[in-house]
Amino acid sequence: QAKEDGRNTHRFFETDMGTAVNERRELITDLRHAIANDELEIYFQPQYSLESHTVSGFEALVRWDHPKRGMVPPMEFIPLAEDTGLIVPLGEWVLNEACRLAAGWPDHLRVAVNLSPRQLRGHGFGPVLIGALAKSGLRADRLELEVTESVLLIESEEILDALHQAKTLGVKVSMDDFGTGYSSLSYLRRFPFDKIKIDQSFVRSMAYSDESVSIVKAVIDLAKNLKMTTTAEGVETELLLEMLKDIGCTDAQGYFLGHPMPVSQMQDLIYACGDKAPLAVTAAQ
Ligand code: C2E
Ligand code: MG
Ligand code: MG
Ligand code: MG
Repeated sequence: QAKEDGRNTHRFFETDMGTAVNERRELITDLRHAIANDELEIYFQPQYSLESHTVSGFEALVRWDHPKRGMVPPMEFIPLAEDTGLIVPLGEWVLNEACRLAAGWPDHLRVAVNLSPRQLRGHGFGPVLIGALAKSGLRADRLELEVTESVLLIESEEILDALHQAKTLGVKVSMDDFGTGYSSLSYLRRFPFDKIKIDQSFVRSMAYSDESVSIVKAVIDLAKNLKMTTTAEGVETELLLEMLKDIGCTDAQGYFLGHPMPVSQMQDLIYACGDKAPLAVTAAQ
């Protein structure tokens, strides 16, 4: 009986695996098609300065509205794109499109673009970056590159070279999701980031944990000493916003301040940014 069960389990497992593999293959084919046919879209999420209470820029977040599946979350297709190398054309498209759109905003607004380590390997990234700036006419210091800490980053001289080249051009470089990797501190020693983005998990837990408040404060102080600014990610409540202000965080981003939105919905906010008057920081939607 046990043997029988074991075999059935095994068969089930194989079937599930088979389905998963087919599904993955199908999604890869569709993603390749989506990249080639301009079916991806960028949503922009506002980033606020806690010093001036104004929008300082927007983070570009890629969206894929699959014709049959609907919105596929980046957490599902970015890893797939990384595994297959499709992240290179995808990332190039996002960078070009984000720069092109940002060039039309008031010129104190920055645009932040996420990069995967794989885009920075080899020697292809420099020309892609120079091309994106040249084609769009975007001033280099209005572009920020967000790189997530990852084992790849620190081990690769190629990646460090690519980031140094970006800095030489005047582009800003941020460390995304700070605190979630194993070696955040070693990264800070190896590369002069302009900004640290404190991961949402730390920010969120500040609401109920004094330890988290202490950790976030320590990160902010550390960043200050290293002449870096800090953006808190995932700010969902007014309370968190006030706490972050109190402990000296310089910038914030999150649903309380504004959700990622399609370009078609940005007009009012961009217009309001144009006269540089401080915007009331109020709950979005
Ligand atoms: P990330 O760069 O850390 O981006 C922040 C994520 O948190 C975004 O998810 C954003 O929608 C979400 N978020 C913002 N505010 C809040 C909040 O208050 N509460 C909560 N719960 N979530 C919030 P999204 O758009 O699903 O993107 C997920 C991740 O996918 C990004 O994390 C980034 O690592 C990656 N990603 C997105 N677009 C790109 C891209 O163009 N290229 C690459 N390489 N990665 C990308
Ligand atoms: Mg990011
Ligand atoms: Mg992040
Ligand atoms: Mg992330």
